[in-house]
Amino acid sequence: AFYVKVDRDTCIGCGACGEVAPDIFDYDDAGISFSLLDGNAGAVPVPQDLTDDLEDARDGCPTGSIQVEEEPFRTLDEKAV
Ligand code: SF4
Repeated sequence: AFYVKVDRDTCIGCGACGEVAPDIFDYDDAGISFSLLDGNAGAVPVPQDLTDDLEDARDGCPTGSIQVEEEPFRTLDEKAV
């Protein structure tokens, strides 16, 4: 399984990830992206049927802010957003 989180320090809020993967990414009030799967914790596995969207978003991010790993980033009780 894959896990995803956005590096919100480098995201410029361009909107590309939400275009290609609206089931994975949303934006906060400042327009900065986060993973809506788990509040950007990177702890909930990306559903299998969203893998293509995930890869498209990661590859299309102009700042390389979409981090994808095969292990969870952190635990659910440490939500970042
Ligand atoms: Fe931020 Fe990258 Fe998404 Fe653009 S594609 S909003 S820079 S995470």
